[in-house]
Amino acid sequence: SIPLSFFAGIGGAGRGGILIKGSNYLETLAKTEVAVFDKTGTLTAGTFEVKALHHTTLEEEKILEFAALAECASSHPISRSLQKAYGKVIDAKRVKDIKELSGNGVQAVVDGIPVAVGNEKLMQSLGIKAIACSSIGTIIHVAIRHAYAGHIVISDTIKVESKMAIDALKQAGVKKTVMLTGDIRPVAEETARVLALDEVYSELLPEDKVRKVEDLLQHINGKGKLAFVGDGINDAPVLSRADIGIAMGAMGSDAAIEAADVVLMDDDPRKVASAINIAKKCLRIVY
Ligand code: ADP
Ligand code: MG
Repeated sequence: SIPLSFFAGIGGAGRGGILIKGSNYLETLAKTEVAVFDKTGTLTAGTFEVKALHHTTLEEEKILEFAALAECASSHPISRSLQKAYGKVIDAKRVKDIKELSGNGVQAVVDGIPVAVGNEKLMQSLGIKAIACSSIGTIIHVAIRHAYAGHIVISDTIKVESKMAIDALKQAGVKKTVMLTGDIRPVAEETARVLALDEVYSELLPEDKVRKVEDLLQHINGKGKLAFVGDGINDAPVLSRADIGIAMGAMGSDAAIEAADVVLMDDDPRKVASAINIAKKCLRIVY
């Protein structure tokens, strides 16, 4: 039978915006030793701002227009930011054959013209040479008509709560904090440095994130538990693979919320430590 304090714990957590999907997760949460985070939307706000546009042949406005149109069906934070920077209403009828390449970008046909928007790996896979950019930030390359058109430099900000969230985890007994991201190394390392994370791995595809979590699981070898915290559609596989999957619920994708064991209703990363502390308290009452 399930101890009464577990129901009280789940109820109390729920009132604090922490949705725990079953009492069995309390025991796992209480034993969390490794906390693994996604970056974008989880530790950062996920609201990118366009900082610069570099163009080759086409004018800047045109590049942003093609990019925003090609991204019109994506719910990725990068896509939302490009739509916002473009600022005009998008006529989806202009866009056909949309392909979203998880962790890399999108491809679509805009006004009958093939467009690709994404990271350098996407450009490489299409045989298009991306022009290097010295700006600091996430760089979104744009190819139009199979030729390199330019790039958009966007930058995200670390959530104000993230540093406190990481410190609170250490206080809650978490031994190792890790960040896994699809973003490029300089951006990833700067975020990890500011937050004083123990480990950081960048330029990962969703399947690389799963493999990395498997490595970390092997390393703790059942002695402690591993929690993964994420929000995106591409975090769903890794949320299922972790001992405990925690999704950011407010901005998060339905796939992530579905795959998670715990949902944080207001995207506040400090609530990861709160959830662990609630779980520990419940277990202390029982045993
Ligand atoms: P994270 O792991 O930090 O959540 P993602 O895996 O979602 O990041 O994305 C990794 C990288 O892939 C981004 O930094 C970006 O370069 C590229 N990317 C992913 N989705 C898109 C998109 N819709 N448009 C443009 N670029 C994208
Ligand atoms: Mg993400």
